[in-house]
Amino acid sequence: MDFKQHITGVILGLAMMPAQAALNVFACEPEWADLVRALVPNADIHTATAARQDPHYIEARPSLIAAMRRADLAVCTGASLEAGWLPALISRASNRDIQPGKPGLFFATEQVTLHQPHDHVDRSMGDVHPEGDPHVHLDPQRVPEIVDALADRLIELAPDHSNMIRLRQLQWQVRWKLSTAQWQEAAANLKGMPIAVQHATFGYLLRWLGVDAAIDLEPKPGLPPSAAHLRKVLSDPSLQTAKLVLIATYQDERPARWLSEQTGLPVEVLPGTVTDEAGTDSLANLISHIIERLQQYQEESPPEVGSHG
Ligand SMILES: [Zn+2]
Repeated sequence: MDFKQHITGVILGLAMMPAQAALNVFACEPEWADLVRALVPNADIHTATAARQDPHYIEARPSLIAAMRRADLAVCTGASLEAGWLPALISRASNRDIQPGKPGLFFATEQVTLHQPHDHVDRSMGDVHPEGDPHVHLDPQRVPEIVDALADRLIELAPDHSNMIRLRQLQWQVRWKLSTAQWQEAAANLKGMPIAVQHATFGYLLRWLGVDAAIDLEPKPGLPPSAAHLRKVLSDPSLQTAKLVLIATYQDERPARWLSEQTGLPVEVLPGTVTDEAGTDSLANLISHIIERLQQYQEESPPEVGSHG
């Protein structure tokens, strides 16, 4: 066999080698699927919940158990967000790689410090997450920390992909930094804007933006809005200055609509997570979309600092 033939043989051999099996990932929520896809585009990802579902409460369906059983890695929120269904799912799937403490189980909230940790929890406080507010996925500051930790974890599980993952991690971080600068600029006139919310779904982003979300339709975190609590909200003087009621697509719209009928406040229903629709199909796009929507309600333009015009 001459050299040319030999090389051809090697190339053919390479081409015929079975492609490395794609990394199989179980994502508890669409935001984590988005981050995994950004780092490992050819990963085979099964996402357990969608924007129209309340991630606190889903059913451990057989299809989810099967997906968990064949996964190499599960990426979830943690901090009790999935306490109602994930432990049962993990136990029924009995995948020995995806167990508490194993590298195959990644919790986003374990990679960052959480807002509002509670030392003490009892039923009277509602369905609170004792480790702190788990809804970290819309936080411009915390998500990059999660991406770094996720990249490390993916490399631990798939060392062959290490160069690609590091490159994509870097690209993601640069893009996020650019977006963050845009959000900061765009959000300058949202600072101090009072709004009413239902649950802490958008809490980290609103806090980062300086939006005042002190009015909550939930009497206690995780407890559905009650008639008594809604009447209390209605008589709250701070409601007078509120610009809108912000709820997530998975939430019951009736309490917000009722409040709107009483006060004339507009109701804004936004996806709490990444969707399949253009405009909200990645975490960065979703944050841009939320900021744009909030700006619709803030008619005052930002003061022109240092303008001599
Ligand atoms: Zn929650």
